[in-house]
Amino acid sequence: MKANLIASRYECSRCKKNMRLQKRKGTVDGYEWRCRNQSKDNRHDVVRSERKGTWFSKSKLAITIILLLTRYWFGKSMNAFVVNDLKVNKNMRQS
Ligand SMILES: [Zn+2]
Repeated sequence: MKANLIASRYECSRCKKNMRLQKRKGTVDGYEWRCRNQSKDNRHDVVRSERKGTWFSKSKLAITIILLLTRYWFGKSMNAFVVNDLKVNKNMRQS
């Protein structure tokens, strides 16, 4: 997985800084976003896997397709057209 196929950055929900992309075994894609802050007044260790928290989290879709569909998601309400599109792409990916 190349880093440029996935979102280029995420903002930490706690400190609003950019999270760092790190390699990690055991996650779906082998990468996770992390922000670790040891400062006294805002200590946190936020980890976010690439797909966690999305309705795609259990899917095996490539992230590129997820991003594509996410643009649908924000542009239009969910409808049968998108559902069918999702199924087609999913089948294509399960080789
Ligand atoms: Zn942070």
